Amino acid sequence: MDKNILELKNISYSYHSLHGETRALDRITFGVREGEFVAVVGPSGCGKSTLLSIIAGLLPAEEGTILVNNPDGSLRYPRVGYMLQREHLFEWRSIYKNVILGLEINHMLTPDRLEYVNSLLRDYDLEKFKDKRPSELSGGMKQRAALIRTLALQPQLLLLDEPFSALDYQTRLMVSADICHLIRRTGKTVILITHDLSEAVSLADRIIVLSGRPATVKREIPIHLTLQDDSPLAARNAPEFNEYFNQLWEEMKS
Ligand code: ADP
Ligand code: MG
Repeated sequence: MDKNILELKNISYSYHSLHGETRALDRITFGVREGEFVAVVGPSGCGKSTLLSIIAGLLPAEEGTILVNNPDGSLRYPRVGYMLQREHLFEWRSIYKNVILGLEINHMLTPDRLEYVNSLLRDYDLEKFKDKRPSELSGGMKQRAALIRTLALQPQLLLLDEPFSALDYQTRLMVSADICHLIRRTGKTVILITHDLSEAVSLADRIIVLSGRPATVKREIPIHLTLQDDSPLAARNAPEFNEYFNQLWEEMKS
């Protein structure tokens, strides 16, 4: 857990258009350790999604580098799984056909991968729903299906861009706790983007606080909660919870 598998060094990015330049990221530097759950918080429009797109390799950084240190010494970039705000399930496909979509597109429909998908459907209580259409499932079940579709490709690094923000508050509490519990069980390295401070404190091992646009790293706050059990809902009752929350709130205000 103590070696950074990913190190971002001075990552900067600007969007260019006919109306001029929008600087989104300004020399972002931080590391991510293997198996760590990092939350990135920052005001709306500051550049969080841009940062995640760069980490995912969907956008090239204009300046700066991302270093990779795999535990086995190889320099291969970790396989990345990406989950977005909307679950983007296709209504014309069954849940099963949706969760194997990534495998299908990548020509990876091998028996062992399909067995892995089936085991996730069983574990996540979706087996009975695999022939249903997305609209027949609750918001939480759809997010679970989206998670299975992401995990099917066996990513080493999970990138979550505000994956719960389309849900109403109560559903969001339950689904974020549920999904994060499932993700924790996989032991994967996670970068979660959120603007919800409570969500960040209850889920993350460490929080990176970004400034307004262009995003710079304002602070890194390691989170240590005294917990009876490891559920994110219980985390909200931990004695340190409010202290972290207020610390973040002050950072975001200033
Ligand atoms: P966040 O995810 O923190 O809300 P984004 O990374 O989506 O922020 O966007 C950062 C800034 O860059 C915003 O001001 C946004 O308007 C601008 N931006 C995002 N995408 C584009 C684009 N494709 N072209 C021009 N500007 C963009
Ligand atoms: Mg965004």
